[in-house]
Amino acid sequence: MNYQIKVNKTTESRLAKEDFSDLGFGRIFSDHMFVADYDNGEWGDFRIIPFDYLPMHPAMSSIHYGQTVFEGLKAQKNDKGEIIVFRPEKNVERLNKSALRMAMPEVPEDLFFQALDQLLNIENEWIPGGEGRSLYIRPYLFATDEFIGIRRSSKYKFIIFTSPVASYYSEPVKVYASDEYVRAFPGGTGFAKTAGNYARAIHPVEEINKRGYQQILWLDGIHKKFIQEIGTMNFFVVIDGKVITPSLEEGTILPGVTRDSVIALLKEWNIPIEERKISIDEVADAHNSGQLDDAFGAGTAATISQIKAIGYKDDEFTLPPFEERTISNRLLEALSAIKTGKIEDTHNWLRVIKPV
Ligand SMILES: *Cc1c(COP(=O)(O)O)cnc(C)c1O
Repeated sequence: MNYQIKVNKTTESRLAKEDFSDLGFGRIFSDHMFVADYDNGEWGDFRIIPFDYLPMHPAMSSIHYGQTVFEGLKAQKNDKGEIIVFRPEKNVERLNKSALRMAMPEVPEDLFFQALDQLLNIENEWIPGGEGRSLYIRPYLFATDEFIGIRRSSKYKFIIFTSPVASYYSEPVKVYASDEYVRAFPGGTGFAKTAGNYARAIHPVEEINKRGYQQILWLDGIHKKFIQEIGTMNFFVVIDGKVITPSLEEGTILPGVTRDSVIALLKEWNIPIEERKISIDEVADAHNSGQLDDAFGAGTAATISQIKAIGYKDDEFTLPPFEERTISNRLLEALSAIKTGKIEDTHNWLRVIKPV
């Protein structure tokens, strides 16, 4: 289907005013955003408008009851100056799986891509060059009924805005496996990229921050024993040459695009990779017997984030120096080379955004 997207460009671009030498993450926003409204069972009023505040009714249902879902992906440029996006079809697929769980309408894939293509063409100049830098893309969907009562909303907004970013974690991370707080359990919303999963994490993360850890390593909600994932990243550990990552089976883990790509690369390289339950005790034992080779988080924001140490109760399991991390270093290098078009994209992971 061809959606009629109205374009209203800003007359006052902020591009020249922003400091691209100090981007950080998620602080600067590009000039435009895509907006669509859902009402009466269908999407309409497709528009690209100057990035600005949105009017909001005080009873807007999503801010009371949390019917929201979001995505995160990145655009970069290859050597030919073309805009490339990494596996975006995975993001729209996941957006719609999250939406289904939260009783929200799907965003048609062709609408998602027309909006993305057109917005990225308009924001072309906002895509920063340079190592680790990119234009972060944030599509999201939220309920806008003006009504105080809990039921499926009949109105929604779908928005895509973008933000030029540097890499997410500049420092190596220390993670703490909490045996107090939990994120997800079977039957819950762990697999959905929805606001509540993050809201419940903020207080626990602040507590561990005070103890010198940057991120939480979530353990399962029932036994508080099996590893799930890290804040905004999926978890991988290398024990005695074998890579292990928690499986998606119970629906308690966010099915990451980076996770999926890491698994595909490892299989291709004939490195053993197991998707299964892994307990924090297994990691402790591996550490104590000198077999804990590597551990890292995988996610769009940071790509591969090597873990320096894992805290649990009163213990801390320290990992080998970064230069000895053959697997995470190789993955980091391969993924960045694929994402920027420096090595051949044999998996067909890159979508080249055609000029419109
Ligand atoms: C987004 C996210 C990830 C990583 O997913 P990617 O698709 O690789 O970016 C992992 N865990 C959580 C909780 C997330 O929100």
